Amino acid sequence: MSERLVPVVCPYCGVGCRLYIRSVDGYPVGIEYAKDVPNISNELGKLCPKGNAVVEYLLAKDRLKRPLKAKEQGKFVEISWSEAIKEVAERLKGYAKDDPNQLMFFGSARTFNEPNYLVQKLARMLGTNNVDHCARLCHAPTVTGLKAVFGAGAMTNTYKDIEEANVIFIIGHNYAETHPVGFRYVIKAKERGAKVIVADPRFTRTAWFADIFLQHYPGSDIALISGLIHVIIKERLYDERFVRERCVGFDEVVAAVEKFTPEFVEKVTGVPAELIIEAARTFANAGKGVITWAMGLTQHTHGTENVKLLATLSAICGYQGKEGAGCAPMRGQNNVQGACDMAALPNVFPGYQAVTDPEKRKFFEEFWGVELSGEVGLTTVEAAYAVDKGKVKAYYVMGENPVISEANANHVMHALQKLEFMVVQDIVPTPTMEFADIVLPAAAMLENEGSITNTERRVQWSFQAVKPPGEARPDWWIISEVGKAVGFTGGGAKGFSYTCPEDILKEINACTPQYRGITPERLKENLAGLHWPCPSEDHPGTRVLYRDKFLTPDGKAHLVAFSEYKGPVEMPDEKYPFLLTTHRYVGQYHTATMTMRSDSLKKRWPEPYAEIHPQDAARLGIKTGDWIKIETRRGFYPIKAKVTKAVKKGVIAVPWHWGANVLTNDALDPYAKIPETKACACNVAKITEE
Ligand code: SF4
Repeated sequence: MSERLVPVVCPYCGVGCRLYIRSVDGYPVGIEYAKDVPNISNELGKLCPKGNAVVEYLLAKDRLKRPLKAKEQGKFVEISWSEAIKEVAERLKGYAKDDPNQLMFFGSARTFNEPNYLVQKLARMLGTNNVDHCARLCHAPTVTGLKAVFGAGAMTNTYKDIEEANVIFIIGHNYAETHPVGFRYVIKAKERGAKVIVADPRFTRTAWFADIFLQHYPGSDIALISGLIHVIIKERLYDERFVRERCVGFDEVVAAVEKFTPEFVEKVTGVPAELIIEAARTFANAGKGVITWAMGLTQHTHGTENVKLLATLSAICGYQGKEGAGCAPMRGQNNVQGACDMAALPNVFPGYQAVTDPEKRKFFEEFWGVELSGEVGLTTVEAAYAVDKGKVKAYYVMGENPVISEANANHVMHALQKLEFMVVQDIVPTPTMEFADIVLPAAAMLENEGSITNTERRVQWSFQAVKPPGEARPDWWIISEVGKAVGFTGGGAKGFSYTCPEDILKEINACTPQYRGITPERLKENLAGLHWPCPSEDHPGTRVLYRDKFLTPDGKAHLVAFSEYKGPVEMPDEKYPFLLTTHRYVGQYHTATMTMRSDSLKKRWPEPYAEIHPQDAARLGIKTGDWIKIETRRGFYPIKAKVTKAVKKGVIAVPWHWGANVLTNDALDPYAKIPETKACACNVAKITEE
């Protein structure tokens, strides 16, 4: 009997907590806290409920164990790996020969950097940039907005800087529930005397810790942030030297926010004017401030504008390029930062090198040994509409569940039904798998190894702790086999002949400037990992970005504000009189495919509840526990009600883990192409027994 204690990274959220799995003969028997690893995001090894339950879903009875082929929709027969790989490769080759843009690939924020690198390499070598993943549905505006203002689209600081801040402004981010261990750094800062400002349409568990709580209407963020900037400028609370020496565009910002007086902002957001003034003063006068945000800020048709405004707010206060300050967008899934860095995105090669830049394209053409497309590919939502038009005919979905995760899910299901061919590569059956032609069983992260990048740009190595079930295989192995079967059999970076994930990370080191010094050897030796950018093997990694200059062409922060207010594209009306918003539970994760297979989590968070204000509930005769029907222009969703003052009158809030995206709006932010899942009009009715 062989017992081992294996260092892994939690496979759930973007905090990326380190822990040990105790395994006997490859079977998980427990976990241990990683108290001995210095300087990691979960100091002292603390974990949240999901982290503590981390091995439970691995033991699910319905794990996918063998490749499957559909006989008819939703009915499968087992086939061998060689049959499965051959069929997938033949079909991909067929579409690519005809027109590579008939193909769409989905990377995954729930697997390692190495398979994400490979899936985009496969798509691009086949001739298409149609590759995307669920970052499109969470932080695409963060990447677009921060890149426009600062020159790069990632967290500018680390958790340590949250702990050292004097003020923390948390907006559209139920930090305490979505990133529980990361939230400990907010608590530590508060214990030191830091002030916490929370802006959220719901009174969340995070709001309990707020010194100032701004309860704005869903989607009214532009007005709220512009109002804060307005007060800071009017009262000359901004950092004049930082603005003069390190920023451009300040005069335009002054003009643009002129109309966002506290009184105007109160009317639009529902937040009292005096609270807006107090929040602005508290934020600007603190000396060191951090802004954190998540989906509540980004999932809007104006998500990019929201992010640009936050970056501008941070910069005018001089909260960039120093410790204890910065912008900290909190990535949702544990490797969403890495999947973006690896370019599971339609517009960039690894390391955010634009596919439209001829020099970058030439580099990758020589590196991979093929001609590459310079045409920006499709995003996830665009792909579903391209299926409607017959332009996209085949999907390769690695570790994603678009039937539950995408906005306007009824339309997604309609599109999947029209596909000619779909491959689903996953660890368990999902609603998306029902539409697959071929299913490839993947090993879960703890049954596999590789590098992962958490929300603070920390790259860590997670080791294999557990044996995968049946014939399930690592994602990197599956894509490599498909790549070779397609015909990419060249040596080195020109093919897919890898023997281990370390081979792939070495290839990533060679083509991704931010990861150049993050070698497998260094990561395995240093369990605390390395923060990118890390440009050479003797570089220690980078905690704080932009100490001397920003990554824009002129090295300055490009400040921006908007004179016109934009709210949600769909506002309440007579037929749909409520404003619907979505949120998450601490014990559930994404589309719940893992957490609903974890007994302890399922027991405590078994089902969704729709939050409704007591006055609305009384008018509609609804009590907590009653079944209600929520209806939007796109679909309806039966759910139990929870009557609570956590939401404002006129607002309905639903957790989306179980399928509430049948309701949400897929109208897009024109820059980041994220759908507006955080705000749309809905109606509510009590379901009565006939
Ligand atoms: Fe895992 Fe996130 Fe919880 Fe840490 S905070 S244990 S990474 S789910």
